Amino acid sequence: MFLGMGLDSVVRVATDELGKMKPEVLEARIQEDLKMGHLPAMVMATAGTTVLGAYDLLEALADVCDRYGVWLHCDACWGGGALLSDKHRHLMAAVHRTHSLAWNFHKMSGAPIQSSAFLVNEKGLMEECNQFKAEYLFQPDKCYDTSYDIGDKTVQCGRKVDSLKLWLLWKAVGDAGMAAVVDNCFQNAQYLAEKMKQTDGFRLVIPEFECANVCFWYIPESLRGQEETPDWWQKISKVGPAIKERMVREGSMMMGYTPLTCKGHVNFFRIILANAKSDRTDMDFVVSEIERLGKDL
Ligand SMILES: *Cc1c(COP(=O)(O)O)cnc(C)c1O
Repeated sequence: MFLGMGLDSVVRVATDELGKMKPEVLEARIQEDLKMGHLPAMVMATAGTTVLGAYDLLEALADVCDRYGVWLHCDACWGGGALLSDKHRHLMAAVHRTHSLAWNFHKMSGAPIQSSAFLVNEKGLMEECNQFKAEYLFQPDKCYDTSYDIGDKTVQCGRKVDSLKLWLLWKAVGDAGMAAVVDNCFQNAQYLAEKMKQTDGFRLVIPEFECANVCFWYIPESLRGQEETPDWWQKISKVGPAIKERMVREGSMMMGYTPLTCKGHVNFFRIILANAKSDRTDMDFVVSEIERLGKDL
């Protein structure tokens, strides 16, 4: 939209049940476009999708993109934190083959909001694209190496030093500390999911998920043990908003719910474990509080 290409130029590629883009479908869509005389320019992969937390298969997508000379961008805004952890880095295998990557360090990686990085694989590209060499602003003949000046490399001129807090954080806690923050998010998610599997009334949308998104339905007692007809699901779709209203009024919790129409899912709760300070007692509270708020529905 911002580049003026228009949404009609965006092609949706089917995903599997976990939410990962299907590489073979991507290739077929590229071939179709080429046949129609269109120019496939860029593939938008995601590492940690917003709702389901799916990690696209970067290796397979990179193979397709290489075959057709298409730019591969990776939206790792949410899931990029995995790169900091020895345990979870495999989720982003082949990330070095992407051409660009967006990563919000204020999400899973523990930095205060906002601290977002846009990384490009090709050195000097930002200058080539954005540099205007306005002589009244950016002088090249200074007493230091001006290649470090970022003023002429981005579309913004005035800006905050968003990288400083990341630098300070990383300096303070080290690689191990950064990994611990990320591992804690993943661990909390797994703990919460396990607990929900063992608690009546909770049903995970994706029982074996990869990221730190816990998506689930809560089924109140009055709706348990019934045939799951479209009418039943209609009733379930109203449970999320009802419980959410109660938690907001009480001020006890805050979490989002969403439908996922493309997968045929009605409203479900979606908890994103991104807080470095959350622990198991918080996860226990989530379960007991939802039970308390939804008991009489
Ligand atoms: C949060 C998020 C974004 C948006 O990031 P902003 O820096 O807030 O614009 C983009 N993509 C994904 C997958 C996200 O989770």
